[in-house]
Amino acid sequence: MKYYTKRIDSTDCHIFEFMPDLDTILACTGESTLQKLENINHDWHEKTKKQIAGINASYFWGNNPVGGVYVDSGYLRNNFSNDKKWSTLIYDGGVLSIDDTSDIAKLKLKYPRASFMLQLGGKLVVDGKISLNSVKFDHSDYRNPRTAIGQKLDGTIVFFATDGRTDRGFTIAELAKVMLELGCATAINCDGGGSSTMTINKKMVNTNENRKVINGFFCYSAKEVEEVKKKSDEVIKKPSKKKLLLLDDGHGTDTSGKRTPKLPNNTIIKENEFNRRVVDLIEDTALKSGLFEVIQVAPELNDVPLETRTNRANKAYDDWVKSGNKGSDVVYISVHFNALNGVFDGKSGGVESLVYELRGDTLRLGQAIHNEVLKGTRQISRGVKARSDLWVLRRTKMLACLVEYGFMDKLEEARLMLNKEFQEECARETLTGICKFFDIKFENLIEDNWKAAIRARSDSADAWIKKIERLSQDQEWKYLPLLIEKLYAK
Ligand SMILES: [Zn+2]
Repeated sequence: MKYYTKRIDSTDCHIFEFMPDLDTILACTGESTLQKLENINHDWHEKTKKQIAGINASYFWGNNPVGGVYVDSGYLRNNFSNDKKWSTLIYDGGVLSIDDTSDIAKLKLKYPRASFMLQLGGKLVVDGKISLNSVKFDHSDYRNPRTAIGQKLDGTIVFFATDGRTDRGFTIAELAKVMLELGCATAINCDGGGSSTMTINKKMVNTNENRKVINGFFCYSAKEVEEVKKKSDEVIKKPSKKKLLLLDDGHGTDTSGKRTPKLPNNTIIKENEFNRRVVDLIEDTALKSGLFEVIQVAPELNDVPLETRTNRANKAYDDWVKSGNKGSDVVYISVHFNALNGVFDGKSGGVESLVYELRGDTLRLGQAIHNEVLKGTRQISRGVKARSDLWVLRRTKMLACLVEYGFMDKLEEARLMLNKEFQEECARETLTGICKFFDIKFENLIEDNWKAAIRARSDSADAWIKKIERLSQDQEWKYLPLLIEKLYAK
């Protein structure tokens, strides 16, 4: 049994492998409350064995798993669903199987001694071949932190989890390839994103949020784990045909001062409410176009220091170049809303695009974006300006542009901050500018992808869940009504 990490496609992957036998067993456990993975115990097994390793398992909503959960020979924790995005993972007699049946009665007949049966989203490998569900989760095509469980032909069980948002992560299709390359003949995706967690000896080993989860897979054994600390070479090292877009949302939601003066209706708007939405929209559209890899350097709601933002960007840039890509294919975009003196006195207003210096590609990028951003709006242009003093322009290794889309202390512009058409326009024009800079001609495609992205945002329950999780994580429940209103406003 061993635990090791491996860098695969610019992502740190944590892998734990063990051979189940009489002394070493695989268990699935979790109760009706969310807990950190390291705190989930299996009392019965712990009488005779030690918990060696664990990974998170089911998707969940509130205090309930999403998808069927049947554990410990007879306990139905949650009902099974017919939704085609689920497959059932069965553990019976030391063998992991994946079955598309969702009828629990049939499953019980087929696997009479199953110690657990669990519906998970995103089948990966079946019978040694990549096999994905016909219906996808909304986030299947996005690069996310991921957790997976699999089994090799010799019976070895594989636990897999990636680091959190500082790494590129995997789409479901990429994850399937990784599990196959690790030797799995059977593999299925578990809950990912902020939930991705692996523990060894009850301590979290991957870097992520350490979010509370509903249940997990655990290895219990009397044996000791051998830790392989050194990172082995990348198994998948291939240059990308895409460009890399690094997105920065400027500030945390509650960063002091970053808000409008009190509007006539007695509300204030925080700068990050605009920034975050625009960054999310740029990300969705860029990913859907298939022409960009995207990394948000500060997906958290709280205030991420500028140094962390640029360190994350520079690490992504180094990984990109190490994988054989061109550094000139990377751009960093920082989304902001300006302020002059914090009062609505009519002295401020307009769009400005800031770059490190007014020459070469740096200037060209700034102009390309600025010219597009000016197109739909009636705001005045304050021009493309050199600001070599700004941290995110000075400390980033790649081409960078910081756009101030308007002024929080100009009333007409402050009112635009939560206007969805304006947000969509800012995002669309920024991406169009970047495409013009790279000389990628796909404007019609942008429109199509754009509409698809907007539709996905307004309809998708997962987008909802993502947003609400983000808020609840930071105890920002007071914004929930506003958020719901914004989502419903589509
Ligand atoms: Zn700002």
